[in-house]
Amino acid sequence: MVAQVIDGKAFAAKVRAQVADQVAKLKEENGITPGLAVVLVGEDPASQVYVRSKGKMTVEVGMNSYEHKLDVDTSEADLLALIDKLNNDPAVHGILVQLPLPKHLDEDLVINSIDPAKDVDGFHISNVGLLGTGQKSMVPCTPLGCLMMLREHHGSLSGMDAVVIGRSNIVGKPMAQLLLGDSCTVTIAHSRTKDLPDVVRRADIVVAAVGRPEMVPGEWIKEGATVIDVGINRIDAPEKGTNEDGSVKTRLVGDVHYASASTRAGAITPVPGGVGPMTIACLLANTLTACSRANDLPEPEGLTA
Ligand code: NDP
Repeated sequence: MVAQVIDGKAFAAKVRAQVADQVAKLKEENGITPGLAVVLVGEDPASQVYVRSKGKMTVEVGMNSYEHKLDVDTSEADLLALIDKLNNDPAVHGILVQLPLPKHLDEDLVINSIDPAKDVDGFHISNVGLLGTGQKSMVPCTPLGCLMMLREHHGSLSGMDAVVIGRSNIVGKPMAQLLLGDSCTVTIAHSRTKDLPDVVRRADIVVAAVGRPEMVPGEWIKEGATVIDVGINRIDAPEKGTNEDGSVKTRLVGDVHYASASTRAGAITPVPGGVGPMTIACLLANTLTACSRANDLPEPEGLTA
C-alpha cells in the first residue's frame, strides 16, 4: 500500500482562504475587522521568525496585526500591564504571547492573565477546563489543525481507535480531548507506556507528538491507518553536503519514519508540509472565532472544534 499524502500546506492555504472570505464579509456586513495582538519578549531568533510570519499571514487574510516587541529584561509587572491593556482593547480579538518567555517571567501567570475569550492559543487554564469538559472554548492551534485534517480526510471519526503519542499540555492532551470529542476510542501513550509498538499497531489513527526524530517505524503502523506526524526535528543531512562555515547541512524530519510508514499507512502527513502550516492557519481561524463570539455573531463554519 502507498499512503495518500495529506497535504497540510494546501489544506492550510484553503483554511486561510476561508478565513479571508469570512473576514471580508465581517468588514462589509458588520464594519468589524478582527485584530490579533502578538507579544514577543526578547530576541530569540526562532520566536522572531514565528512572530514575523504570524504577522504577515494575519495581514494577508485581511485582519489587523498588532506586534508588541518587548526587551528581554521586561519586568513581569510591565508585561502584565500590557496584557491588561490588550484585554480591554475592543480592537484586539486575539492575544498571543510567544513562548518560551525569558526565565524571570512566570509563564503560567502570564498566560492566565490573558482574557480567556481572547486566548487564541487556547492555553489559559479556563480554556483547558472547558475543552476537558466538552464545552465551547478556544482550542490550541496545533491539535485543532490535526483534527481538521482528520475530519477532512475521514469525514466522521466516530468509533475509530486513536493513539496519541505524547502527553504535553500544548499538543498531546488537547489532541486526545478533541479525538474523544469526535467519539474516537483514545489511548494516550508517553515515555512510560509499556509495549508502545503494540499500542500503535491497534490504532486506526496515530498522532505522534514526541520530539524524537523518526522514532515510530513503519512496522508499528497498522495497514491502512492514518498517521498525523506533529514532530519537527532537525537532523544532520551529510548527503546534502556542508555549509559555507564547514558545518554539515541539516533537514527536518518528523517523529515518524516517513519512508517506511508510507508503505503501510492509508494516509500520512509529511514533515515539513503537514501539521506545521496548519498551526498558523488555525491561529487565524481562532482569531476569527474570537471576534465572532465577541460580537455575538455566528461562528465561522468548519473552523472550530
Ligand atoms: P514535549 O517535549 O512537551 O512532550 C513530548 C511527549 O513525548 C511527552 O509526553 C513524553 O512523555 C513523550 N515521549 C518522550 N519520549 C517518548 C518515548 N520514547 N516514547 C513515548 N513517548 C515519549 O513536546 P511537545 O508536545 O511540545 O512537542 C512534540 C513535538 O511536536 C516536537 O517535535 C515539537 O517540535 C513538535 N511541535 C510541532 C508543532 C507544529 O506546529 N507542527 C507545534 C508544537 C510542537 P513523558 O510525558 O512521559 O515525558
